[in-house]
Order: sequence, then structure tokens, then C-alpha cells
Amino acid sequence: MITPKKSLGQHFLADKRIARRIVEAVAPTTNDVILEIGPGEGVLTRLLLERCGYLLCVEIDSALAAGLRETTAAGNLTIIEGDALKIDWGEAIRAAKAKWADCRSRADADDAPRIRLVANLPYYISTPLIQVLIREPIDDMTLMLQQEVVDRIIAGPGGREYGYLSVLVQYHCEARKLFEVPPSAFRPPPKVRSAVMKLVRRTKPPVEVHKEERFFALVRAAFAQRRKTIYNNLRAAERALGLGAVDQSLLEKAKIDPRRRAETLSIAEFASLDRALFE
Ligand code: SAM
Repeated sequence: MITPKKSLGQHFLADKRIARRIVEAVAPTTNDVILEIGPGEGVLTRLLLERCGYLLCVEIDSALAAGLRETTAAGNLTIIEGDALKIDWGEAIRAAKAKWADCRSRADADDAPRIRLVANLPYYISTPLIQVLIREPIDDMTLMLQQEVVDRIIAGPGGREYGYLSVLVQYHCEARKLFEVPPSAFRPPPKVRSAVMKLVRRTKPPVEVHKEERFFALVRAAFAQRRKTIYNNLRAAERALGLGAVDQSLLEKAKIDPRRRAETLSIAEFASLDRALFE
């Protein structure tokens, strides 16, 4: 048994019932390419492998990657030793799709697989990783996260938890919390509570924006200093956003009181603001 490395966020899932519950929530089929980040000792990997079409794992710890290769070799499994924050996901997904097609018979070689992600994420990189993955062509994600991060993702306007991450994720995906997991389910137990959530990519975003990158830069700037009004945050970001002087009348044009704080704005209101400022 490997000694867990704290620096890599290694809290292995020791409760097999929870592992099975996660895999049941995924319900993998042979039509699926599954991407697993941080397979660790393989508790989820083995269950996923029994049911999915093709599995690509990305593990940063070379000892764990080597151990998994020894114990879990299979024709429909690839284990990449690498950093999930740095790999080229577009390329990895293209390669995984091709391998999935190789594993299939000629008769159904034209089908396209679903691309799905499953991870008991290392908590120290979960937020930046979600920000990377949300832009990739992944149909759904089943993630074990720190409960506090789940609450931030699913939060609606009006509360302390609502912020850039909520808007970013809810714009791209439907997000729902599935169940909570106590620290005792892990070896060693983390200091925080955890929860499993599902993100399902929307076929169409809930609001129309002209340029996504610019929209998210605006949302980020609006939340830069949460205690400041939306007007003051936008004034401070005029240059960074490539705007001229932000006038209160522009906010009024979007029917937004300049004295409001970003945390009170719905995604639809952010989209109106985007139109008023940039069009
Ligand atoms: N999936 C296993 C389980 O449920 O028991 C392990 C989960 S553990 C919370 C996180 C895993 O992610 C560890 O195996 C760790 O080595 C790996 N990891 C940490 N940082 C990583 C990174 N940047 N890229 C890929 N894997 C990483």
C-alpha cells in the first residue's frame, strides 16, 4: 500500500460502497470514452473499466501510474503520467476517440462516443482544473470535490457563495449536487467535507453573448472586489476590458442599478451588461 502524499492531494477513497455509488451515478456504457483524472490506486478505475468503451487516465504520481499499469492492464485502457493542468486535453480527447473506435467493430465504427470525465479530484487544484475542463468538448463530468466548492458552483445570485465560478460553470453546464461524502470514507481523511456533483454540458448556453472570452473577463472584473459596487469594479477594470470611461448610464441602459454588487446579478443580467458595454 502506497503512503499518501499530502502535496499531491492524495486522499484515497477507501469506502468501496461510495466508489460503487459514484460509478452508478456515471452509469458507463461501451459508447463512452471516460477520462479519469488522478486514478490513484484505481478504486474507481477498475469499476469504470468493466463497463466503458475506453478509459484514459491521467496521473501525476509516477509510482501510482506504474502500479496501476501493472495491476490493471487492459486493451481499452491508457494511463498517461502527467499533470492534468498542463496536458493538451483537445489532443488527448482526439487520441482517446480514435482508440475507442479501434476497440469497436467495423460495423459501428462510424458512431461517435460520448466524452465523459470522472474524478475524485485533488482538492488543491480542483478550481483551476474545472476552469480548464469546462472549455473542453466533454459531455458530462462526475466529480468528487470539496463541499464548499460544490456549493460555490451551484449557488444562485444573492449569497456569499455565488461568484465567477458559479457563472462560468452554469453558463456551460447544468450543475447538480448528488451526495455528500464524510471524511471517514478516505485514507487519510481530509480536513474538509466532500460531495459528488454532476455537470452536464448544455446544448446551448442559457444566455446569448457575443464573445465568450470577453463576457467572462467582464464577470471576473465585476467580482474582483466583492465588497465594491459593480460600478466601482467596472471603473477599475476599464482598461483591462478595453472599454472607454464606464458611465453609470451604461449600467442603467442594462437596467442595472450601479450601486448593486456583482453577487446580486443573475447570468441574464451579466449578459445584458455585456451588451450595454460592448455593443
Ligand atoms: N481516484 C483515487 C481515489 O478515488 O482513491 C485517488 C484520488 S486522490 C484524491 C487524487 C489523485 O490525483 C491522486 O492519485 C494524485 O496523485 C492525483 N493528482 C494530484 N495532482 C494531479 C495532477 N495535477 N494531475 C493528475 N493527477 C493528479
